Amino acid sequence: MLNEKFIKEIIKTSADMWNKGWAERNAGNITVRIDKNEIIATDELDFSNDWTKLEKILPNLAGEYFLVSGTGKFLRNISVFPKRNLGIIEMDENGACYRILWGYEGGGEPTSETPAHLQAHSVRKEISNGVDRVVIHTHTPNLIALTYARDFTTATLTQLLWEMHVECPVVFPKGVGYLPWMMAGSQEIADATADAFYKHDLVMWQHHGVFATGRNLDTAFGLIDTVEKASDIYIKAESLGGIKHKPSLDTIIAISRNFGFEPSKDIIDELRKKS
Ligand SMILES: [Zn+2]
Repeated sequence: MLNEKFIKEIIKTSADMWNKGWAERNAGNITVRIDKNEIIATDELDFSNDWTKLEKILPNLAGEYFLVSGTGKFLRNISVFPKRNLGIIEMDENGACYRILWGYEGGGEPTSETPAHLQAHSVRKEISNGVDRVVIHTHTPNLIALTYARDFTTATLTQLLWEMHVECPVVFPKGVGYLPWMMAGSQEIADATADAFYKHDLVMWQHHGVFATGRNLDTAFGLIDTVEKASDIYIKAESLGGIKHKPSLDTIIAISRNFGFEPSKDIIDELRKKS
């Protein structure tokens, strides 16, 4: 089991998150929807554990398997003790409950943000026709700092980030969904995050951290890396005396279209109204 490709990939991603300074202590969590046919033959899976009920039934996740980082576990330790810090869960035949099949060795549970992750997976599986398999949440310091220093909506946060590097409108043309502070682990924030994932690949929680989704770990990690760098550039430019030059909205749209993308119409419409 520990030689599976998806274990190797999550070890690399979690180590990168730690090295980037995004995952202090037990911060950050990762879930990957895995192909059960890749592991069904192993004798390491334990089908005797009790089911845990979810508040929301997620019918399109029925029978799916997920690789999930553990609650209270440190991402930086996954590379050293993968079986202690990770687990595999199975959804029941209705998408109403999950049980642990593997991992969390020595006692443990899936991340406390598991309901938010699973609701996000449900949305992304639906709208990507099953292509999107990864959800990452982590604490990116520059992006978090912006939410302390500035007032944002989804449109204004996205505009600021699009402006701070000319490849941003290509990397995240759908923008970054912005959620005002809500209690982490609550049903309210899980619902709001899932809702935002209908329109965006990235969702920012004010004063807390970012969520990203994608077809694989590289895609989701790359989205976070890009918005965090854009935030860093903004802070650096502001500290140099303020921003003097930036691409116009028309330029941002043109850059996106030049690479075959269309920036979010809702966001562009809102920004046009504002200007
Ligand atoms: Zn967090």
